[in-house]
Amino acid sequence: MTLLRHTHGGEIIERQALTINPAKTCQPVGAMYAALGLNRCLPHSHGSQGCCSYHRSALSRHYKEPVMAGTSSFTEGSSVFGGQANLHQAIANIFTIYKPDVIAVHTTCLSETIGDDIPQIAEKAAELGLIPEGKYVIHANTPSYVGAAPTGFANMTTAMVKYFAESTSPEKVPGRINVIPGWVEPADMREIKRLVQLMGLELILFPDTSDVLDCPQTGVHEMFPKGGATVEQLRATGDSLATIALGPICSGPAAKELSVKCGVPQTTLPLPIGLDATDQFILELRKFNGGHVPREITDERGRLIDLITDMHQYFFDKTAALWGDPDQLVSLSQLLMTVDILPKYVVTGTPGKKFLKRMADVLDDRKAGVEVRQGPGADMFLMHQWIKNEPVDLLIGNTYGKYISRDGGIPFVRHGFPILDRVGHQFFPTVGYRGAIRLLEQILEAFLQRQDRECPEEQFELTM
Ligand code: SF4
Repeated sequence: MTLLRHTHGGEIIERQALTINPAKTCQPVGAMYAALGLNRCLPHSHGSQGCCSYHRSALSRHYKEPVMAGTSSFTEGSSVFGGQANLHQAIANIFTIYKPDVIAVHTTCLSETIGDDIPQIAEKAAELGLIPEGKYVIHANTPSYVGAAPTGFANMTTAMVKYFAESTSPEKVPGRINVIPGWVEPADMREIKRLVQLMGLELILFPDTSDVLDCPQTGVHEMFPKGGATVEQLRATGDSLATIALGPICSGPAAKELSVKCGVPQTTLPLPIGLDATDQFILELRKFNGGHVPREITDERGRLIDLITDMHQYFFDKTAALWGDPDQLVSLSQLLMTVDILPKYVVTGTPGKKFLKRMADVLDDRKAGVEVRQGPGADMFLMHQWIKNEPVDLLIGNTYGKYISRDGGIPFVRHGFPILDRVGHQFFPTVGYRGAIRLLEQILEAFLQRQDRECPEEQFELTM
């Protein structure tokens, strides 16, 4: 905190080989989260214990749930000679003791650098009889020096398609669609399921972390909670009528893989956060249900528009700084533009094609004076420098923004991953029309709390 107070503004020096306080987290975290959305699956980190501890603790601290995962526990020997023996031992132990249906192995920087060939190791494990009948070992390569957590999510979701999806007939099942939700909260996955159900469609959602990371308290610990997409569902994705990928970076690759492997047509949409992106999602669903949108959904949309009308006077001409995952940032920026808040500074450490172009499309004729950065050097330090030079009215992003918020006294809405210092976020969706209502309510609350706290006595109003 003290160090951040010394962040200087003034001239900003372009950095090529130095990232300070990155606006991203490492690939395996995303792979682990995606694997948790598979029913009776134990994520497994093929690397050293420290990596696995970090990934588990990041997820546990965000979701306030015990996150289970195995590790190959590399030591000096495995770092030199490779991790095959460790992974074989792990597979044998996990299936014997914990009895999952699936072990989802992701790699780490270390095992990638050694060059461990996971499919070959898994094949050998099968030959040795370490994988019981009807059980599976799947894998995704997730070197953390390439990509970030959304890349890991995308890689593990694509692995689910590669390992399980099947096309049993050229005729697709009428009225059944696949939705890949992107890295969103369990409550968002519930909300997506509710919307698709209201549209009268049969849905396979994968991965699905609802009822895995938002379980009710029963007093009994369940190693494998009831939620998650099942292996049978994943197989059946190949016979669905279509796939909707929500978020091109997190969900696009799996949808494309399914299209190539099983001939399931796919559409990639922005994450349905905000009015426009939710409209796009509903309009896409409408193509498969005969063109009907039920009254319940149009009413929710109408309530959101009413709320925007009521709140607009407080939002108009405000500015915001955002950081996090590209798929989230594009849709959040669009929501802010809808209510006339300018997303003035946007940074993401996650690489991904077309992010800058998508942001330019969202900003349209407001691009001038807006800073959008991606990749190395697009970090929280840079964002803080921008804010020191020209402050904004609002911060939206993960917990790491609290230092900048405190330093500048700037209202802060927590959104994205990780949120380490608040509880309950996993229960409230921000997707769909209802999610947008929740987000706007949080933003207005942040603005008005500041006004009440800082305004002069004579402007301290009862009615605002
Ligand atoms: S960056 Fe690499 S070494 Fe560090 S925790 Fe992530 S996977 Fe492990």
